[in-house]
Amino acid sequence: METILKIENLTKKYGKLIAVNDVSFNIEKGNVYGILGPNGSGKSTTLGIVLNVVNKTSGDFSWFGGKLSTHEALKKVGAIIEHPNFYPYMTAKQNLELVCKIKGVAKNQVQKSLEIVDLLDRQDDKFKGFSLGMKQRLAIASALLNEPEILILDEPTNGLDPQGIHQIRGIIKRIAANGTTILLASHLLDEVEKVCSHVVVLRKGKSLYVGKVDEMNASFGFVTMQCDNMPLLKEVLSSHKGFGKITEEGEYIVAYLNEEMDASSLNKLLFEKGISLSHLVKRKESLEEQFLELTKNTTSTK
Ligand code: ADP
Ligand code: MG
Repeated sequence: METILKIENLTKKYGKLIAVNDVSFNIEKGNVYGILGPNGSGKSTTLGIVLNVVNKTSGDFSWFGGKLSTHEALKKVGAIIEHPNFYPYMTAKQNLELVCKIKGVAKNQVQKSLEIVDLLDRQDDKFKGFSLGMKQRLAIASALLNEPEILILDEPTNGLDPQGIHQIRGIIKRIAANGTTILLASHLLDEVEKVCSHVVVLRKGKSLYVGKVDEMNASFGFVTMQCDNMPLLKEVLSSHKGFGKITEEGEYIVAYLNEEMDASSLNKLLFEKGISLSHLVKRKESLEEQFLELTKNTTSTK
């Protein structure tokens, strides 16, 4: 496995505000990574630091095993972190040819890049007439001109209509299928779920989860219970290794499972401890619920 980017204990402070707080994760070649978090959680700041446009406060990051200077390494990175700037009265093709000139890339990359983003048939149209989605696709084409090892996108579907969103997601998948590593920041769980293989969940600059998207989903669910001796129920659940977080919700106790357990064996287990339940419902959280749980603004979440 080849490490493209290693981030270790990265921290960024703006005065008292900690925008990025001790974040660590690795990006391995060929995967699609999402940085997922609500607005203001530190996604853009993290991207800005590794792209050398924001100064870190502490911690470290290294590109491609640290063999290259950041300046050299960034030549192998394609990134769109701001609204794309193209010349309105120039065509898509002319704009990209200009980028080639600036980047010192052969012009024949233009056709290839335009094809990937489905803009070949619009190459001779002026940029000013493009829809927002087409502008965004042109920006992606531009970032692909130097055939980067990794493509970085900050909120690539923001402001687009459903069709535009669908197109961009399709293009990202296509680029990934060609073997390009991707890192994208998004506040949309659904986007990360659809596009990414791996995810870093951020809240207030802190990473709450780093791992595979699938495994974030592989929770064992939770059970809602009620009986006439709630303190005993709570005690029994707390001392059982099969349960993680235990909370009280109104008249019910909600216990999150750390392992597979069906409702009847749980019932039996509790009965043997002298507890007969008057209510027992087992449910599995959706990824969305887990995300909301992870990013909830409380002190109970890590
Ligand atoms: P996200 O991209 O997840 O929406 P940002 O990385 O843009 O979040 O911002 C993280 C936090 O840092 C926010 O609270 C934001 O207001 C703050 N922040 C970002 N840039 C600056 C800056 N240049 N000066 C002061 N605070 C900033
Ligand atoms: Mg942002």
